[in-house]
Amino acid sequence: MKGHNIPSGDLRRIVAEIAAEMAAETDRGTVADYIPQLAKVDPKQFALVISTADGEFITAGDAETHFSIQSVSKVFTLALALGKLGERLWTRVGREPSGDPFNSIVQLEHERGVPRNPFINAGAIVVTDSILSDYEPKEALAQILQFVRYLASDEAIAIDPAVAKSELDTGFRNAALANFMRAYGTIIGPPEHTLGVYFHHCAIAMTTRQLAAAGRFLAFDGQLDPGGSRVISTRMARQINALMLTCGHYDGSGEFAFRVGLPGKSGVGGGIVAVVPGQASIGCWSPGLNAVGNSQLASRALELLTRRTGWSIFAPR
Ligand code: GLU
Repeated sequence: MKGHNIPSGDLRRIVAEIAAEMAAETDRGTVADYIPQLAKVDPKQFALVISTADGEFITAGDAETHFSIQSVSKVFTLALALGKLGERLWTRVGREPSGDPFNSIVQLEHERGVPRNPFINAGAIVVTDSILSDYEPKEALAQILQFVRYLASDEAIAIDPAVAKSELDTGFRNAALANFMRAYGTIIGPPEHTLGVYFHHCAIAMTTRQLAAAGRFLAFDGQLDPGGSRVISTRMARQINALMLTCGHYDGSGEFAFRVGLPGKSGVGGGIVAVVPGQASIGCWSPGLNAVGNSQLASRALELLTRRTGWSIFAPR
């Protein structure tokens, strides 16, 4: 099987089998606890959703359960910022994998306040600051939320205020990153404004089904559907996919590319969005994380999915 036009019956069977195998897993990783509100989530949950080119949703597991998307939101803020600023964004944030933990301060000092990429915390805080530029924090946040709702075609998507507060109360390390970058001028606005918006967009709650829907624009070259409404340019969509492949899984990005072979972005809430260009957007979620902070079962499930479907961005077309 080359991975093209897999009959939907076959996809359904593969997705159901993977969900059943994941339900039987005993080693489910560890739920993030550095944001206290996230530590309360039940690790037994799992969901896998594929949103195909023709608009079908193939779902298994807890596909309608809301979870905190955390760093997956960085994909959406990057798309919004690129749409607004274009290439100018790249004067303030780089495009190289970091090889360091997502909240590393050391690297930022070496590189004079310019973060390695938009998916580590420092880089995402810069992206948030760029969206904020001429707006009040509330307005910027409303734009981000509206953008995510538009991508997922779902007006019900909202921020979980308890998670946002939990992170505001404990996000000292992110505050350090923001203040440090303000000193270098990488961040322009007041750090507390930028952090407030950043914590809130990380606290957006979505279901795995909504996440799969929201990833569609990256699967279809910047359009919500093949040949449909354009969200961002083809070039930008491909650039974001390149960054997801190289930087989307913290310092486990190489491993994810090796095992799964698709662009993807994970968050410490246990969610991963991944795309098969031209074919499908995938949402996967399970709250237990591996040692580098990626969902243990979602990573495993995506590996099994690509093996069984033949999906890979490296597959001949
Ligand atoms: N809001 C989280 C933080 O800044 C995001 C972590 C993540 O998902 O990588 O620590």
